[in-house]
Amino acid sequence: IEELRLMRESAQLVSKTLGMIAAEIKPGVTTLHLDKLAHDFIKDHGGEPAFLGMYGFPNSLCISPNEEVVHGIPKDIPLEEGDILSVDCGVYMNGFYGDHAYSFEVGEVSPETKKLLQVTKESLYKGIEQCVRGKRIGDISNAIQTHCEKHGYGVVRELVGHGLGRTMHEDPQVPNYGRKGSGKVIKDGLVVAIEPMVNLGTHQVKFHKDGWTVTSLDKTPSAHFEHDVAVINGKPVLLSTFKYIYEALGI
Ligand code: MG
Ligand code: MG
Repeated sequence: IEELRLMRESAQLVSKTLGMIAAEIKPGVTTLHLDKLAHDFIKDHGGEPAFLGMYGFPNSLCISPNEEVVHGIPKDIPLEEGDILSVDCGVYMNGFYGDHAYSFEVGEVSPETKKLLQVTKESLYKGIEQCVRGKRIGDISNAIQTHCEKHGYGVVRELVGHGLGRTMHEDPQVPNYGRKGSGKVIKDGLVVAIEPMVNLGTHQVKFHKDGWTVTSLDKTPSAHFEHDVAVINGKPVLLSTFKYIYEALGI
């Protein structure tokens, strides 16, 4: 229980960081600037930016615009009206990790892209609903996949959600596609990062030579939402929240 309290603190610092970033996202701002803001904010609040140096990653945030799926490296290139921006943030504090992401709109985006963001976020909550004692990991995966494919979207296979705690990535893996009733049984005390990565077009992706950037193969926009979820008394409890983002965006 003390461990859960500390994990929630790490997750909540990520949530607050994303809320701070939400207020700064607009045309003309560079993703490198957003990265610097997040780095300083996390440090000022007693945490360590967990992605910085992890597997050799050069920055504090993974920022993936448009067709970039995840693991995008912040750049000195200004955002443009109509871009979408997936921002993934990790914090290490008091021995525990938080890892949580949101896809933002830059100014006014096209209706079809807006829909992609909405459906991907819905699928995250459909997955979370299945994260209850006695169900299996495949039930989470299947709920996400079913909801996104119903809308004709491509659910990325090569990248998955994961267990989380004293290390950033631990068992079990939580794919965003799969069969109901498959995989490990969900038990009390499980903590997982559930994170659908969904393309407007094909589910296929391309891994780039920089060793990080992943894009949709057909270059259609890609969305990513992630929450940290604990199973307590049989039920899913969110350790992270989008509350600060919604406050910043006035939604
Ligand atoms: Mg993440
Ligand atoms: Mg993650």
